[in-house]
Amino acid sequence: MKIAIASGKGGTGKTSVALNLAVSASVDTVLDCDVEAPNLHIFFKPHWNLEETVFVKTPAIDSSKCDLCGKCVEFCNYNALAKLRDKVIFFSHLCHSCGGCSIVCDRGAISEVDRPIGILRYARVGDMDFWEGRLNYGESLAPVVISALKEKAEDGTIVIDSPPGNTCPMVEAVIDSDFAILVTEPTPFGFSDLKLAVGVVRKLGIPFGVVINKHGLGDDRVERYCKDEGIDILMRIPYSMRLASAYARGETWVELFPEMRGKFLGLFEAVRKRCLKR
Ligand code: SF4
Ligand code: SF4
Repeated sequence: MKIAIASGKGGTGKTSVALNLAVSASVDTVLDCDVEAPNLHIFFKPHWNLEETVFVKTPAIDSSKCDLCGKCVEFCNYNALAKLRDKVIFFSHLCHSCGGCSIVCDRGAISEVDRPIGILRYARVGDMDFWEGRLNYGESLAPVVISALKEKAEDGTIVIDSPPGNTCPMVEAVIDSDFAILVTEPTPFGFSDLKLAVGVVRKLGIPFGVVINKHGLGDDRVERYCKDEGIDILMRIPYSMRLASAYARGETWVELFPEMRGKFLGLFEAVRKRCLKR
């Protein structure tokens, strides 16, 4: 069972929900797919057992074979190639590794080489497998690192901490999940981003429910929206200084406050039942 924890924007408490759900339900694997800013490791404090590099295929141009026909430049949709007076130049950070330029080059001037774009790290944390993906600074291919990370866990109960937002990295993280928990807060920004996230998971056909973090803050627009749309609110986490302080200190709510463990177990059970019904 794969459970993705997503949110339309950063700072809504997505990582807290992923962390506390994983710890209270003793899941098999946790994947930190927030590859541009992974932060579950702050709470797990792992001793890394393994590190792997994620590569993409990148064109390498042999100028001695190139006759400057320009076919590769025309082909590249991402403007990663440009023809100068005497050579073709390549902008690696625009390349999407489609491999097309090496196919269209009749002169055999383009070969493909591996370029590192990120890393995957593994640690055993208690009874859980913990994997983290990390995109190299300045790289844009977050979905490639997320996809490589997701290949590390196929069986058992898996919690996926998705990247914030509603674009390609979030879609890559949640796409084959059995259930998505959308974490939001009862503020105008939270409400607006929740609606976008709901649109994405509905399009992907993934069953989902909502967790309202910082409940008591803001207004009741999120509650009214969920009621009108028939969306289940699975949990309300109160707006509380002691929870915010624990998070800031890198501490886990369910370990500090015993009553929270029961609430997160209730959340897990609610998700499990909905997955079984499918
Ligand atoms: S591999 Fe694809 S994206 Fe990269 S330079 Fe070649 S055509 Fe462009
Ligand atoms: S397609 Fe090949 S020969 Fe033509 S410009 Fe590109 S690298 Fe040079």
